[in-house]
Amino acid sequence: MNKENLLLLLETMANKIEDNKQFLTVLDAEIGDADHGINMARGFSAVKEKLPSYADLSTGSILSDVGKTLIKVIAGSSGPLYGSAFKVAGKIIGDSEEISYEQFVSSLEKGIEKIQFLGQAVENEKTMLDAMLPSLRALKERDNARDGLAFAVEEAEKGVEHTKEIVATKGRASYVGERSLGHQDPGATSYLILLTAIKETIE
Ligand code: ADP
Ligand code: MG
Repeated sequence: MNKENLLLLLETMANKIEDNKQFLTVLDAEIGDADHGINMARGFSAVKEKLPSYADLSTGSILSDVGKTLIKVIAGSSGPLYGSAFKVAGKIIGDSEEISYEQFVSSLEKGIEKIQFLGQAVENEKTMLDAMLPSLRALKERDNARDGLAFAVEEAEKGVEHTKEIVATKGRASYVGERSLGHQDPGATSYLILLTAIKETIE
C-alpha cells in the first residue's frame, strides 16, 4: 500500500463511518451513552478534511496525524484508544513509501497492544478487542493481504457476533451489567467497519 492508497483508505473509512453513524449510535444507546457513532463520525470527518494537507507527508506521518486528530476531536473513550493506535502505527510505518503486508500486520499488532495497555481490557470483556484480537490472529495465519484481510474480516464479524453473548466488564457498558447481554458492542462494530474499508481498498 502506497501513499495514494492510504489516502484513499482514509477517505473510505470516513465515508463508511459516516454511513454507519446512526447505526453505531443506536448500538451505543442500548448499552452506553448513545454517542459512539457521533464520536467516530466527528473524528473521521475531521480526518477527511485534513486529507488535502497530507499530500506532502510520509505514510507514517499521515497515520500519526490521523491519530492526533482522533484524540483531539473525539470526546469518548474511543478517541484515545483508536487515536493512540493510529499514532503507534505511524511510528512503525515511518517513511516507508510502500507499506508491506508484514508492516501492516505488525503496526496493527502494536496498535492493539497500545489499546490493551491504555484500556486494561482483555478478550471477552465486550469491547473492540473482541473483534480486533481474532482478526489479528487471522492476519498472522496468512502471508498476503488479500487472503489475510478476507479471513480477518470473517473473524472480526464472528467477534462482533460473540459480543452479543457476553456481559460488558469494561467501559460504560459495564454499568448496565447483565442488561448488556444480547447487544453487540459498538466499538467492535466500528472496528469491523474500519477493517472492511482496508479489505476493500486492497481489492
Ligand atoms: P464512551 O464509552 O466514552 O462513550 P464511545 O461510545 O465512543 O466512548 O466508545 C465506546 C466503545 O469503546 C465501546 O463499545 C468499547 O468497544 C470501547 N471501549 C470502552 N472501554 C474500553 C476499554 N477499556 N478497552 C477497550 N475498548 C474499550
Ligand atoms: Mg459512548
